[in-house]
Amino acid sequence: MGAGTKLKTKHLGHFIGGQFLLSASGDTFETVNPATGEILATVSLGGAEDIDRAVEAAKDAFDNGPWPHMSIKERCQILRRVGDLILANQESLALAETADTGKPIIESMEGDIPRAAYNFHFFADYAPSLNEECFTVNVNERHFTVREPLGVVGLITPWNLPLYLATWKIAPALAMGNTCVLKPAEWTPYTATMLAEIMNEAGLPPGVFNIVHGFGAGGAGEALTLHPDVSSISFTGETTTGQAIMGAASKTLKKVSFELGGKGATVLFADADLDEAIPTAIRAAYRNQGQICLAGSRLYVHKKVIDRVVERIAEEVAQIKVGDPLDRQTQMGALVSKEHFDKVEKYLALGKKKAKLITGGQRLKEIPNGLFLTPAVFVGVDNKSPLCQEEIFGPVLPIVSFEEEEEVIDMVNDTPYGLSASIWSSNVDTCHRVSRHIRMGTVWVNCWFARDLRTAFGGMKASGIGREGGRWSLDFFSEAKTICYRYKG
Ligand code: NAD
Repeated sequence: MGAGTKLKTKHLGHFIGGQFLLSASGDTFETVNPATGEILATVSLGGAEDIDRAVEAAKDAFDNGPWPHMSIKERCQILRRVGDLILANQESLALAETADTGKPIIESMEGDIPRAAYNFHFFADYAPSLNEECFTVNVNERHFTVREPLGVVGLITPWNLPLYLATWKIAPALAMGNTCVLKPAEWTPYTATMLAEIMNEAGLPPGVFNIVHGFGAGGAGEALTLHPDVSSISFTGETTTGQAIMGAASKTLKKVSFELGGKGATVLFADADLDEAIPTAIRAAYRNQGQICLAGSRLYVHKKVIDRVVERIAEEVAQIKVGDPLDRQTQMGALVSKEHFDKVEKYLALGKKKAKLITGGQRLKEIPNGLFLTPAVFVGVDNKSPLCQEEIFGPVLPIVSFEEEEEVIDMVNDTPYGLSASIWSSNVDTCHRVSRHIRMGTVWVNCWFARDLRTAFGGMKASGIGREGGRWSLDFFSEAKTICYRYKG
């Protein structure tokens, strides 16, 4: 192991006005490979002064630069080049993502990095087709609504899918003519910094895209949410962080979009195609070590099939290959940080007291320096227990049985979250009824994690405010202006 030793850049600076810069304070922190404990790079530790510099550069690029005045097609040509360059650097980006997060290389190579490129390609194709409404009031009068950029937008992103989720915000923000300041998660700053080099190579004007590294509360993240020249904040992360950001952003009345935590449910009815449903439920629970907001992190199984399902799940989960993220056969890598690992272990300890652990939940002894856990399955879990109620964000799956449709709908809805669920049945009426009654932003029927990027994505209840995807992203990153024309007849 040791992807880190292959990574070229040993210091990750802020990216401001098209240049890599040290912090005003000169302070740094370290980013660590959670699979090995190796320090990958030092990182400039940003604070309010660095946010001021980045916002100033972004404001100057917006007020005085060409970007907002270019046609949407011209901007999208540059964004398309960014996507192409991500693909041209796929291997080095994937190695960096795996070293920074601990996720299997196969996921970085075949999932995260191609998707980051696709985020640019998708919006480069989609944004120019945005319709503006025009109403003919009478022969001499037309009223129409145009979309204008917001100005400097603040983007704050999490560590679980670092480049994938950052580009999901950057691409639509830039397509609409904004300039931006990104604050990537402190645990995974590497690929965002590589993206900055790509932005320069693609010909993005200086100051259009900026990065400030650092922490959230009391650091660069908070300073961005308080800055008077930042028009809006698009944030993905924990629900409690969303609450803090909303408070800070209210002081300057910023527009906000929040993609927050989830407690996704998988529901298997007795007539489900178990040969498809079981492997998918397992993938939904453990992909990315369970560190996905859309994870199927609780499994409800009809009483008629529960014994068969539990037996197969225990058997198949025990086969999951956990270990060296650089091995292409590895299915589960390391958890992102010691702090997060400790949190997941606390849930495991609680589960061992309150329910029955049937497999997994152990540290990997073979790699003592790495933050590895074997995938855990609990049965005999009460739906009110923290295992079913709280977002663990790790490889822990509680299984609960049910008999009635209404009962399972109530259990699925009985958490503060409302992000996603996946329901499995061969009866189309059951699927329709259940998906209508579940309070989730996304419901998958006989599938998981499928999505056309034109559809709305986001959470109900404590899982978010607003929607991303297709026109929803373009709406968020623009302001509607109505212009009413009266001509002399
Ligand atoms: P987090 O909220 O701890 O951190 C996310 C980002 O917010 C980081 O960049 C962090 O530095 C910054 N931040 C923290 N406090 C801040 C503050 N007071 N002001 C400004 N910025 C602040 O989340 P995380 O641990 O990085 O990510 C995991 C969480 O993200 C999980 O809850 C997961 O469900 C959620 N998530 C949601 C989605 C979605 O689409 N709904 C997608 C991925 C992850």
